[in-house]
Amino acid sequence: MSRDPGPGAPHHELDEDGPRADRPGTEDGDPRVSQPGIEADGPRARRRGTDAGGDWPVIGPGALLYGTLRRRPARLLRIAGWSVVEAAPAFVIGLAVARAIEDGFAAGRPATGLAWLALLGGTWLVAAVGARQVILAVAAVAEPFRDELLGHVVAGAMRRATASFRSAGPGSAAVARANLQVELARDSFAAVVTVVRSFLFTLVGVVLGMLTLVPEALVLALPPFAVGLALFLLSLPALARRQREFLLADERTAEALSSMAGGLRDIAACGAEDTVGNGTERAVAAQAAAARRLARVTAVRTAALAVGAGLPVLLVLAGTPWLLSTGAGAGTVVGVLAYVTQSLGPALGGLVEGLGVSGVALVTSLGRILRSLPPAVPVIARAVPQGDDLSLRAVTFAYGPHAEPVVDRLDLVVPAGDHLAIVGPSGAGKSTLAALITGVLPPDAGEIRLGGVLAGEVVPAARVLIPQEAYVFRGTLAENFGFLADVPQADMAAAVRALGAGELVTRCGGYQAEIDPAALSAGQRQLVALVRAYLAPARMVVLDEATCHLDPAAEERVERAFASRGGTLIVVAHRLSSAVRARHVLLVDGTRVLKGTHDELVRAVPLYADLVGHWQPEPVS
Ligand code: ADP
Repeated sequence: MSRDPGPGAPHHELDEDGPRADRPGTEDGDPRVSQPGIEADGPRARRRGTDAGGDWPVIGPGALLYGTLRRRPARLLRIAGWSVVEAAPAFVIGLAVARAIEDGFAAGRPATGLAWLALLGGTWLVAAVGARQVILAVAAVAEPFRDELLGHVVAGAMRRATASFRSAGPGSAAVARANLQVELARDSFAAVVTVVRSFLFTLVGVVLGMLTLVPEALVLALPPFAVGLALFLLSLPALARRQREFLLADERTAEALSSMAGGLRDIAACGAEDTVGNGTERAVAAQAAAARRLARVTAVRTAALAVGAGLPVLLVLAGTPWLLSTGAGAGTVVGVLAYVTQSLGPALGGLVEGLGVSGVALVTSLGRILRSLPPAVPVIARAVPQGDDLSLRAVTFAYGPHAEPVVDRLDLVVPAGDHLAIVGPSGAGKSTLAALITGVLPPDAGEIRLGGVLAGEVVPAARVLIPQEAYVFRGTLAENFGFLADVPQADMAAAVRALGAGELVTRCGGYQAEIDPAALSAGQRQLVALVRAYLAPARMVVLDEATCHLDPAAEERVERAFASRGGTLIVVAHRLSSAVRARHVLLVDGTRVLKGTHDELVRAVPLYADLVGHWQPEPVS
């Protein structure tokens, strides 16, 4: 589409008014924000004045995890409370065993011995109840974490989708993949919280138990335990890195294999067997190398466990004479061994296993989710247009750097209050122009101004774009109508009357009836969207074939209502009758853009006259 008046062009096609130096004062002071034509964000977000998805900052995994936990102190307290109950055996076991032997069985008092063992058994029973409550308490933290994460993913998808019509956006498949990652992150998050918490509480239980029983035992058990723990923690970052490398290599192999399997015929036809084979071999070799590197780091885990869980047992056994020399009995030594083998070792084993698998999975999935999010939308300073006039100066737009421009150096002036119909063959660029005018698409070059304000900086409430596919959300009819403006019922009724939507309201069961968008016809959905746009504070309305599912009479009524509503009306015409009704017509035919009145275009432009000649007005019902 380029500006080319041509020899037969009407004499006052483009730029007929020129930019106005004396712009009228603000007529629309309503700063509420709504995205023209993009109605996928919730009502609240639109009313609040945020860009779709702009509320969600892109943050790192650590901040996200910390934020999730910090915001829920009561739930953390609940987890801690039940963890004490669950970890009670870690404290009791050594004491009970030592006392059962020394005060009971070794002292010839089996009943006392049995009583201590019964106490230990009872503690285990209580701990089982605690363990169940811990699972519930952890879920109460993990579920909101999942919701928050999903919020980031959805907001990110929205940001990408609304950033530009040019990019295809993430698509539902990508969102579904991200959703899988979110589920994985939620599960691993729950596992990590469970494991870390269990480790900490067990450790405290064991330390308290040993302090009560024989504090000297701590000197034997804790140092190797601490060394094993440190070794494992130090290996964690490398483990996460290697795990991620392995996952990526695994995915690349799967991709290479599936694209090879899907294109076997083409590969054979092009004789590309060797090239494809080599590529696949490289992917498999890279995956094998990644697996070996992962295995080497995983070996550190085994070493850490041997040092942290095995060495304390040996040191306690070797230190038995010293423990006995401090006055401890043989039963006490057995009690210490119970602490080391039954509590300390399993706790470290659980941590190594849990963090090594779930922790790494959590970091990997969180990293992937957060990395896949587009950057936060920069905040754009919005301004209220100082008038309803629209001007385009040398506007160029193409869907991609190497694509032919759909709009090429277009100049156009639409004076305030004009009623302009855009006509032209399919694919000529009418919808693209509508999106540019309303700031949905940014121009590659040139300037578009509404009331003197650049289209991309106009407060969204100042204009509304209704596309062909009308968006209706679940809720009442009144909520749908009043989505862009809080209006009294009387105004709503007046709009419904003006647009001929009375029958729709009756059929739906009144303004307060809940509507199911899927149960409405395409035409009914368009009527809902049209009433919504009519009630909006917008001073410029762009209808992009927004009445195509209405019959000609209903369409005429709608267009006339919008034309007398005030402000500027631009209609991408579905039927030529829309052009006949409009004050001006913009003819877009792929190579030329011509503007004039209907009569002028019929007289001066053969293509337009031809279109009109072939036009058979549909019978008005
Ligand atoms: P019209 O509304 O007149 O039918 P459009 O503005 O929809 O025309 O399209 C103009 C041209 O731009 C067409 O060639 C169309 O294929 C192309 N086009 C439209 N949308 C996109 C898009 N999102 N990505 C790439 N090309 C597009």
